[in-house]
Amino acid sequence: MSSYWSDFVKHLEPYSPGEQPQINNITKLNTNENPYGPSPAVINAISEAADDRLRLYPPPEAEQLKNTIANYFDLSAAQIFVGNGSDEVLAHVFNGLLSHPDKGPLLFPDISYSFYPVFCQLYGINYEKIPLADDFSVNLDQYPSNNGGIIFPNPNAPTGLLLGLEAIENLLQKNTNSVVVVDEAYIDFGGQTAASLINRYDNLLVVQTMSKSRSLAGMRVGYAMGSEHLIEGLNRIKNSFNSYPLGHLQIAAAIAAFNDEQYFKNTSQQVIAERERVVDELESLGFEVLPSKANFILAQHPTNAANELADSLREKGIIVRYFAKPRIDQFLRITIGTESQNSLLIDSLKQLL
Ligand SMILES: *Cc1c(COP(=O)(O)O)cnc(C)c1O
Repeated sequence: MSSYWSDFVKHLEPYSPGEQPQINNITKLNTNENPYGPSPAVINAISEAADDRLRLYPPPEAEQLKNTIANYFDLSAAQIFVGNGSDEVLAHVFNGLLSHPDKGPLLFPDISYSFYPVFCQLYGINYEKIPLADDFSVNLDQYPSNNGGIIFPNPNAPTGLLLGLEAIENLLQKNTNSVVVVDEAYIDFGGQTAASLINRYDNLLVVQTMSKSRSLAGMRVGYAMGSEHLIEGLNRIKNSFNSYPLGHLQIAAAIAAFNDEQYFKNTSQQVIAERERVVDELESLGFEVLPSKANFILAQHPTNAANELADSLREKGIIVRYFAKPRIDQFLRITIGTESQNSLLIDSLKQLL
């Protein structure tokens, strides 16, 4: 059969996200969404924005949202870039700031967010994966300075391990000729953001999302923070691709989420407390659990194969994530749910083991 696809499309291997089953009575612990809904103030803001004004294009630069984010992080609006989920922001980052065929390869950890190699393929970026240490930590000392850029999640995904700000600052002090991107999708569950280093390192870009700690995965809002020069580069790409990445409702929801700090703090705190409880319970069932500062854990049982456990949990209506990849194929990645979801998970594992 002849194909209408370009050669480029024929050779693309897209990212495959965790499944989103459209069933209600399922315990969904597979894609690191927040188990608590967004703040009631966010729902209000969306309803109030849903009117006749939807016939108009949204503000292309989303100034009000940029101001909100800038105030929150003590930066200026010119240091903020916003996009349709941080995956879209990251796509522009790879294209606009990490593609340097004249320099060395782009560097990222061998066990990390599996979208990174997909972006590299999409934009033809040469990359090299740097192995995690034996304890699964990211060792930034091993990243050679001859590179076209460095990107890593902090905490790392899917391990959950966190790097401290000193480690990141050490890297920035020696790596001055390429962009360093810290993907902070999970930073609010126990880490310290690198945003405070932005005014001292003009090659640092910090990317965050509203999908995890701010309970808005369904809204699609992400942002990047960095020097005006980096942000201007991203704006050039965005304005060559889609001038209006965020609609009125997304902007209203994101601003309201930032303005309800108390709700954000309470729900993040609940997730953290539940994570500690789940870790204790799994360890008493014999699991080895990597030390996580994210809203998920990576856990391995000494005798039960991870893929079989995942299948058995699924039969009980609980979905967790399994990666058939070297070094982590004996682990399950489990998103921290509500108290009752987590208890259901633990009770089910007790029956299965
Ligand atoms: C979830 C996640 C993202 C993407 O978040 P969206 O804003 O929903 O696109 C980016 N990076 C990492 C490491 C993630 O886990």
